Amino acid sequence: MANVSIHPAVDNGVRPGQLNFAGGELHCHCASNPVRVKVGANTAHNHVCGCTKCWKPEGATFSQVAVVGRDAVSVVSGEDKLEVVDSNAAIQRHRCRDCGVHMYGRIENKDHPFYGLDFVHTELSDQDGWSAPEFAAFVSSVIESGTPPGNMDAIRARLRELGLPPYDALSPPLMDAIATHIAKATGKLAA
Ligand SMILES: [Zn+2]
Ligand SMILES: [Zn+2]
Repeated sequence: MANVSIHPAVDNGVRPGQLNFAGGELHCHCASNPVRVKVGANTAHNHVCGCTKCWKPEGATFSQVAVVGRDAVSVVSGEDKLEVVDSNAAIQRHRCRDCGVHMYGRIENKDHPFYGLDFVHTELSDQDGWSAPEFAAFVSSVIESGTPPGNMDAIRARLRELGLPPYDALSPPLMDAIATHIAKATGKLAA
């Protein structure tokens, strides 16, 4: 199954994270004056994602994306090169206008279930120790990017082989978190 490509960071096996890792720095792909973003904490819920919105490296079938508290994220340099991909989207993805790499995604709607969390791509860091990917989200959506539907059995088998359970939405804990947030907002559960 190793001939089925998912993402360069996991194609040779998922590397474990380090429990006490304290964060690091992300940089875009520009050879000169890269955008640099400090992430001052380890990430959580790292996963590969098949949606069409997340940034992925050239040729990859999936993106790799994790969350971290927004207070831990700050732009070190190159802020003038950042632009929001779609200001109407729930997640405002800030990309480098020169190389197109997404540096962080931020939620500005305080009522959103994931408000307070930024989305980052740890592969943009030279440091090791970021939390390891744990599952695959929005797997069916890779078809929207042009993956033939007939490849899906092999893709899901490879994801399971890598220890990344494939889901066609987010993982059960994250779907539960969203539903809990909604139930509290609508009064079905005590806040
Ligand atoms: Zn760049
Ligand atoms: Zn995605």
